[in-house]
Amino acid sequence: MEPLLELRDVTKRFGSKVALRSVSMSVSPGEMVGLVGPNGAGKSTLIRVSLGILTRDSGSVTLMGEDPLVSPRARESVGVVFERPSLPPSMPVISFLRRAARIKGASDEDVKRAVELAGLKGYEDRPFAHLSAGLKQRAAIAHAIIGSPRLIIADEPTSNLDPVERESVLELLVELKKQGASVLLSSHVLSEVLRVVDRIVVLKSGSVAISGGPEEILKGLRRVRVRTPEPEALAKELGSMGLKAATSGPEVIVQLEGNRDADLLDALAKAASKGIKIYGVDMVEPNIEELLR
Ligand code: ADP
Ligand code: MG
Repeated sequence: MEPLLELRDVTKRFGSKVALRSVSMSVSPGEMVGLVGPNGAGKSTLIRVSLGILTRDSGSVTLMGEDPLVSPRARESVGVVFERPSLPPSMPVISFLRRAARIKGASDEDVKRAVELAGLKGYEDRPFAHLSAGLKQRAAIAHAIIGSPRLIIADEPTSNLDPVERESVLELLVELKKQGASVLLSSHVLSEVLRVVDRIVVLKSGSVAISGGPEEILKGLRRVRVRTPEPEALAKELGSMGLKAATSGPEVIVQLEGNRDADLLDALAKAASKGIKIYGVDMVEPNIEELLR
């Protein structure tokens, strides 16, 4: 099936600053793709170039089969949630969504569905200024899904939210995917994206550093933290048994390649038998810095 969004060798400069460097990526029907990278990596630029809001210096963009710079119409089948959604502070949620529906040629029934899906029932008459950050973000998503877009593009929809709100926004996006939409979700938090997407594209300084399924990305990434009063001695001991271990303050970080959990446990048992105390072992949450090293 033809991708809903496809970038090929896209380069974008702001003066002498290269924000996107020969980026190729795509979102196919039914897919939820995570666009992950630290601040300044080029996520928002990629999204704006994809929508034809920004011009590109070279390369091609196809959105719904068309170049968005040539056919702005292509954007009509895309629901966009911008990084900082501008919602009129004194306008009640429902008035805003109804207006949006009129502009998009969608029905009141569509508005109702968006309100229900986004979990905004009971908040319809509240002005945006009286909504929590999480509810505002869900209202922005409700706005994006009016008109049942085939593709939803959300730029860091979970940033500035507390953990509970983050979770509800991610769940909403997963639900939209279940109902048939494709999703491009950007975030600077790798661990949350890993849980919900089918595929991840990692941007580093404007280039695609890594891309693949969550499992693929996690492989070779698994790190374990061992707490011990003698980090140097333990790192040396583990190293001598062929494990990649390094001290990090009062801890030893072990990089597990492939399926070496058993090796690690054996090595820790051996170290303990030599008198090295081990206080605890736990997984290190994967983060982008780690992935990009
Ligand atoms: P991200 O969304 O991943 O944080 P951005 O796409 O916003 O990254 O930015 C990528 C790079 O491009 C950054 O170095 C940023 O400073 C630069 N940049 C983004 N927008 C502009 C602009 N309008 N003018 C100049 N530089 C910009
Ligand atoms: Mg951004």
